[in-house]
Amino acid sequence: MPYDNDNIFAKILRGELPAFTVYENDQCLAFLDVMPQSDGHTLVLPKQPVQNLFDLDDEAAKYLITAVRKVAGAVQDAFSPDGIRLMQLNGEAAGQTVMHLHMHIIPCYAHSTPLSHAQHMAETEILEEHAAKIRAAIH
Ligand code: AMP
Repeated sequence: MPYDNDNIFAKILRGELPAFTVYENDQCLAFLDVMPQSDGHTLVLPKQPVQNLFDLDDEAAKYLITAVRKVAGAVQDAFSPDGIRLMQLNGEAAGQTVMHLHMHIIPCYAHSTPLSHAQHMAETEILEEHAAKIRAAIH
């Protein structure tokens, strides 16, 4: 299946839809998942129009994992989770629902189980507050 230019993340990348952005550079964009599995759940994506991991070239892969490390560090500093899970789904059979490659950064807390994938919409005020906390922790 070819890359769909009208997928939600393509629209966010073009500025046609809003996002709770926490980090951006020339190659990557990171914003909060609006249906977070836990507080601080963040998505990092390459700006290149790629659907999955196999469409990403080596150079872009380096930029992506570098951005993931940076943003995950900020999430760690902002929320002090007990652990951080990285997740990246390739294809509908794997559970991918948005067909633009992205890495999930999912904070894990010892005394609570992460919520189900893409099920519970968070409140805007909470997402704004969480995005600000992560932005403040990026360095
Ligand atoms: P995946 O199933 O791996 O493709 O993940 C897509 C993720 O995008 C899900 O966790 C959704 O909650 C999340 N999501 C869907 N729409 C938006 C949006 N407009 N802004 C931020 N996150 C979104």
